[in-house]
Amino acid sequence: MAHDAPQATGPSKLVIRNIGLLLSGAMEKPILDADTIVAENGKITAIGRFKDVNTDDATTVVNANGTTVAPGLIDSHVHPVAGDWTPRQNQTGWIDSYLHGGVTTMISAGEVHMPGRPRDVVGVKAMAIFAQRSFWTLRPGGVKIHAGAPVIENEMVEDDFKELAAAGVKLLGEVGLGGVKDGPTARKMVGWARKYGIQSTIHTGGPSIPGSGLIDKDVVLEADTDVIGHINGGHTALPDDQIRCICEGCKRGLELVHNGNERSALFTLRTAREMGDLSRVILGTDAPAGSGVQPLGILRMVSLLSSLGDLPAEIAFCLATGNTARMRALDCGIIEIGRSADFVIMDMAQHSPGKNILHSVQLGDLPGIGMTIIDGIVRTQRSRNTPPATRVPEIVGH
Ligand SMILES: [Zn+2]
Repeated sequence: MAHDAPQATGPSKLVIRNIGLLLSGAMEKPILDADTIVAENGKITAIGRFKDVNTDDATTVVNANGTTVAPGLIDSHVHPVAGDWTPRQNQTGWIDSYLHGGVTTMISAGEVHMPGRPRDVVGVKAMAIFAQRSFWTLRPGGVKIHAGAPVIENEMVEDDFKELAAAGVKLLGEVGLGGVKDGPTARKMVGWARKYGIQSTIHTGGPSIPGSGLIDKDVVLEADTDVIGHINGGHTALPDDQIRCICEGCKRGLELVHNGNERSALFTLRTAREMGDLSRVILGTDAPAGSGVQPLGILRMVSLLSSLGDLPAEIAFCLATGNTARMRALDCGIIEIGRSADFVIMDMAQHSPGKNILHSVQLGDLPGIGMTIIDGIVRTQRSRNTPPATRVPEIVGH
C-alpha cells in the first residue's frame, strides 16, 4: 500500500508531449487542440503545440505516445474512514485501487462507517475535525481526499457550524444518515452550514442499510443542500416522477452514483439534458458500501452514461471532472492554466471494437489507463485494474 505517497521536494517541471487527444473536462469545449502540457510545481503553466511552448529544463518528461490525456477523475461521493482501510467490507488499499481507476480526488459524503461512530454533538464535531486533518495529511497513493464531513444531529446549534468551519471543516456528510430526517430541521442546519462556507449533500431515496431511512423529494427540496446526493438512489431510487420534481424544483447538483439504480441514473441524465442542465450532473461511486468497493466505478459510470445514455464520451468525462470541480469549488478537474496538474492518461482498451477511445466508450467499453499524475508527479503507470490500454505513455526523461 502506498501510504507514503511521494511529495514534491524541490522545484519541478513536468512536460507531457505527443498527446493524441486532450480532453479538457469543460463541457463548453471538451476537446482541446494541443499536444503538449507543461506543469510547474504542481500547477499547469502551458497548454499548446510542442513547438510553441517552453519545455526547457523539464524535471520529468512523459511521452504520451499518441494517447489521451484527461483531468484526473473526481469521485463526488465516497465514505472513507481511516487511512486506506474501510471497515464496511473490511478491506485495505481501496483508495490506491481507485487511483488505478483514474480517480485523483475524492469527496467524503460522511465518515459514517466509523466503528462506534459518535452521535453526540461534541463527538460528531471531534470526528469531523479528526477526519479532515487525517485525510489531508495522509494521501494514499497521492489521492486528494476531501474528508471531515459531519452528519447533522438534532441537537446541533448555529455555533457548532461556526466552530466546525473555523476548524477547517468544509463539508457536511449526507443529511439523513444522522438524527435529522425532516425537511425544516435540515433546511435550518444546511443554511447555517452554508453561512459559514460548509457545502452540503443529502441521502436521496430509500434506506441504504438497515437503520437508515427514506428521504423523499419533499425532504430533499426543503433541505436545499448544495448537492442532491445520489439522486439515483443509494441503492433504492425514488420513483421517476419524484426525480423529475427534484430536477425541476431546484438548481442544485444532481449526483449520479455507481452504487445506485442505473435506470434511474439514465432517467436523470435524460431529464437534465432536456432541461439544458447537463452542467449540474456530477458522478460518484458511493463506495465503500454494501455493494463493495468499485475502483473502476467512475469509469464505469462514464461508459454507462455514454453508451446507454447516448452522451458523447468527451462530454461524459466532463461529468466526472470539470462539472464536479465547479460544483465543489476544486482547483483540479479542468485542463486550464493555473489548475492542479492532476491527469489520467488513457487509451482504447486492447481489442475493443471501437474506432478510437471515444468510440470505444460510446460502445460501452472501459478505456485502459496508462498513467496517473497528481500535482505534477507521476503516481502510477499501467493500471493494474483497467483492461490493458492499447498504447501506454512512458517517462522518457528526468
Ligand atoms: Zn446515501
